[in-house]
Order: sequence, then structure tokens, then C-alpha cells
Amino acid sequence: LSAELLNAIREQFPALHQEVNCKPLVYLDNGATTQKPKAVIDALQRYYEHDNSNVHRGAHTLSDRATEHFENARKTLQRFLNAKKAEEIVWTRGTTESINLVAATWGRAFIKAGDRILVSGMEHHSNIVPWQMLCEQTGAELLPIPVLDNGELDMDAYKSLLTPQVKFVSVVHVSNALGTINPVADIIRMAHDVGAKVLVDGAQAVAHWNVDVQALDADFYAFSGHKLFGPTGIGVLYGKEALLNAMPPYQGGGEMIEHVSFSKTTYNGLPYKFEAGTPNIAGAIGLAAAVDYLHSLDRVALAAHEDALLAHANQRAAQIGGIRIIGNARHKASVFGFILEGTHPADVGTLLDQQGIAVRTGHHCAMPVMEQFKVPGTVRASFSFYNTLDEVDALFNGLEKAKLFLL
Ligand code: PMP
Repeated sequence: LSAELLNAIREQFPALHQEVNCKPLVYLDNGATTQKPKAVIDALQRYYEHDNSNVHRGAHTLSDRATEHFENARKTLQRFLNAKKAEEIVWTRGTTESINLVAATWGRAFIKAGDRILVSGMEHHSNIVPWQMLCEQTGAELLPIPVLDNGELDMDAYKSLLTPQVKFVSVVHVSNALGTINPVADIIRMAHDVGAKVLVDGAQAVAHWNVDVQALDADFYAFSGHKLFGPTGIGVLYGKEALLNAMPPYQGGGEMIEHVSFSKTTYNGLPYKFEAGTPNIAGAIGLAAAVDYLHSLDRVALAAHEDALLAHANQRAAQIGGIRIIGNARHKASVFGFILEGTHPADVGTLLDQQGIAVRTGHHCAMPVMEQFKVPGTVRASFSFYNTLDEVDALFNGLEKAKLFLL
């Protein structure tokens, strides 16, 4: 990205322009959540100032307008993922709820004692615990696909785990702790060969490139709006129409029914069957604004810029020494997780914050990964396209200072 374009992009993100602890903010915690462009903030404001109303039920103009914007947002997300139909886009609160929905409904309907479910050893807790809960209820077995020391999935081990007992595979597209980009197209193809369905946790992927669920042949794809420059409290579950149709509903309530009586209740069609209660209307509209904003940019150039930020971080790390990078996969997104030898990640995080540098420290909701790499946690700088090479330098200058203080 040219300096000019990068500046113009940064101008669109008001939160980046502030001081923290008397220093210019260097926001490197994009894996946790991303900052919001003006287009998103404006869309939320416009909705609440002009169109605020409940959807799908009004006999009045505002409600019609809110419904139109809300359903158009669904179509925007359909195009974003290249789903066949808008009905395959279910609004949820986020990745966590999307995964829980599939575990609770597809799981309850189709998993039985003796079945096997595979996840990887690099999953976020939100792609482990719902499956453990399902296994407790059904007597199925949850098995982890091992992770190699470089942070890549052990694909040979995956192959040997894929027996006919495996009914479901749920894997992360990009690891939030390691940055590894998993070969999900291969993972899906191999799972389909034994008749298993696959969910991909795309929480950390969608911010970096355009995902095509049809090209991947994913059965389910889950992500959160807030990691894609959109609002919190809104997320997406994509599911193939036939699978969603075969699944029982998730929560019961308004919107998800066709007819209710005390003798028998019938359910609404897709996607409303899975959207009980008043949805996050503003959130959906805000998320669509984020997607429109991204489509106004050259995403390939943005991804190349993120790669350059990561390459620069690797270079600086080698220069200052004493840095152990956790996660060295060949295909890696702009997630830089590390340990400053001889220090605790939390202390490093505090010292960086004092210099205005926002990173995340801890286990990143991926305790099994920390266990495997025998670390209590890591310091994680996760870069977005609005970050600059100067900000990467600020991180390493900050680390030099932290070293002087801590070692
Ligand atoms: N999966 C991954 C890979 C994540 O990084 C996260 C968020 N850290 C989640 C799932 C959960 O997302 P949310 O908290 O938005 O539901």
C-alpha cells in the first residue's frame, strides 16, 4: 500500500487517532477485535436515527424500511461468502453462538453414542467446549487432530483419524493463537470422503481475505462481525440449505414459528427457524456496511500489506533476539505470537500498554495450544491492514524497553 492510501484508510478509523498513556495509540490487538470504519459507525447512527423499528412484523413504513435494510444486509453477507442463497445465512451473536447452534441442533439430531467428532489441537475454546458438551450428552467421542511443532496440523494423523465412525469435523481456518492458515479445502474433501460433515471456524480468516464457501465445499462456516470491522453482538452461521433444513430449531420464541397452538407448533422456514426473538438489526446493517467498505478496497493489496507487516515483525524479532515465536507455519496470517525469553507475557503486555501499544497476552482461549508449546501464555500482536511498518517498529522499540526493565 502506498503511504498515501494507507493514510487515507487510517483516516476512516476514528479510534486509531488517540493517545493512550500520553503516547499515540498503536493498536495491535486485531485478533481480539478490529476497529470500526466511519462507514460502519455512520450506518449504525443512520439506522437508529431514521429507520429504527422491529423487523418482519410492522404494518408501518419504518418497520418495512428496517426489514428491507436487514434483509439486504443478509444478501450482502451471502455475496461476501458466495453462498448459493440468502436463506443459508443465519444471524447469530458471533462465532461462539454459531458453533453452539450447530453442536446443539445438528449434533442433537445426528450424533449418537459411539460416533466420533474431530476438532484440531489448535482450536479456540469455542470450538472445543460445545462439542465436549455434545459428547457428554450423547456418548460420542471427541478427538483432537494433533498439531506439529511448527504450528501446522498433522495431516497424516488427520488422515488416520478419519474412520467411518467420524461424523463431524470442526476446524479453525486461521488459528488465533498461532496464525496458522489451515488447508481447509483438503480437510473438507477428506472428511467428505468418509461421509463426515465439516464446520469451519472462520473467526480469524474473514478479516484477511474473501472466503468462498462453495469453492471450499464447507458444510458450515462461522464468524463474528466484530473481527471483520463490524459491530459486536452480530455474527454469521453459513450452512448448506439441505443441512439447515434437516436440523431442528435452536432457541424457541417469536420469529422462528409458523403457527403456535398448545396442541402443536410448526416452525418457520430458513433462515428464520434459527432466529428466535428480535434480532440484532443494527448489528446486521453495520456488518453489511463493513463488508461494503472492504469491497471498496483492493483486498489482495491489503493482504499483501499485512504479509509485509508480519515479515517485518519476523525480521525485527531476529534482530533484537530473545524472542521465541510461537507458531511458524508456512502459511500464516498476520498473527505474531511470542514469548520474550525470561519474562512473563502479562508483564510485557503491561509495559507495552504504558507505551500506548495494545497487544493481547495470555492463553488466547486456546489452552491446549499453550500446553503443547509449554508456555503459560504468549504476547500476541495481530496486525490489520490499517497498521503501519512504523507501528511494527514501535512494538519492537517497546519490547527493547521492556527488556531493559524486566531482564
Ligand atoms: N474462534 C476463533 C479462532 C477466535 O479467534 C475467536 C475469538 N477470539 C472465536 C472463535 C470466538 O469468537 P467470539 O468471541 O466473537 O464468539
